[in-house]
Amino acid sequence: MPSALITGVTGQDGQHLSELLLSKGYEVWGLVRGHSADRIQAYRQEFPDVHLVEGDLTDLGSLIRAVEVAQPDEVYNLGSLSFVALSFRQPEATADVTGLGPLRLLEAIRLSEQPGVRFYQASSSEMFGKVRETPQSESTAFYPRSPYGTAKAFAHHSCVNYRESYDMWISCGILFNHEGPRRGSEFVTRKVSRGVARIALGLDTHLTLGSLEPRRDWGYAGDYVNAMWLMLQQEQPHDYVIATGEAHSVRDLVVTALQSAGLEPDVERYVRFDKSLLRPAEVDFLVGDASRARDELGWAPSVDFVGLVDMMVQHDLRLAASSRD
Ligand code: GDP
Repeated sequence: MPSALITGVTGQDGQHLSELLLSKGYEVWGLVRGHSADRIQAYRQEFPDVHLVEGDLTDLGSLIRAVEVAQPDEVYNLGSLSFVALSFRQPEATADVTGLGPLRLLEAIRLSEQPGVRFYQASSSEMFGKVRETPQSESTAFYPRSPYGTAKAFAHHSCVNYRESYDMWISCGILFNHEGPRRGSEFVTRKVSRGVARIALGLDTHLTLGSLEPRRDWGYAGDYVNAMWLMLQQEQPHDYVIATGEAHSVRDLVVTALQSAGLEPDVERYVRFDKSLLRPAEVDFLVGDASRARDELGWAPSVDFVGLVDMMVQHDLRLAASSRD
């Protein structure tokens, strides 16, 4: 039975990946920090078969112990401080967890002298930031626009460097935005799906957003964790862009969500602008070219933009209705 260690296991991708690896018969280990008790409790209830091991990406000793205990064949580093807006307010913590965290984990694996551990790094389309070309592929230069993006770029380069320096088996997935009903409500997709559901049920009259113009390549998280796993099953490690190849604006997202909830797609009526939600630097337009993943991994997304928004809105309509009753 192969074994896998996942950091960030209680997050959106961690949950999807736990589900996938358990269904494939893996022994799954999840790294959890001591102080997020509620999250851990909720995760435990949903995934009683996953072994939890305590550790923190800011603490090398704890990572060494976690690798020792789990003896993983595969390590998936999904842990990070991942909300871009927050990274502007906590740049140093972001650099520490999101940038240095992966470096520490690589050191823990290198020191463990367990040959053949396969490592997946959650790289991000935010590294492309002020894009140098469209669409973005594995060879597009990085131009990050936030402390989160710069930290992810550092981590990505560290992974490439460890692969080349120590012959370690490391693949980075440059994942474009990926969402779903498990997404945290600080991200715009979930904020919109929840807000629109509440409006449809008469619990709210509007939702408050920042800029409606940025465009993103939004896919479904369930599809994207499958790509992570596929990357670690290849003969050689490589970096892959994972994206749908289709971009939509935040405005499109609101319109699609309103339609899914059976409301008039009248953005001016339902959305209020709050300038405090603008960011010091914005990423205007991201769209990925996932040809390599398609050709080498046989990967393709199964859920399109409308399907994704509909899945999230219908989920949040059910949730809002049950909390109202
Ligand atoms: P990101 O691409 O990782 O930053 O994902 P987010 O979901 O946080 O943001 C996607 C885009 O939506 C960004 O360009 C934000 O500036 C924009 N946006 C507009 N209003 C909001 C808002 O109220 N919350 C968030 N999170 N993003 C917003």
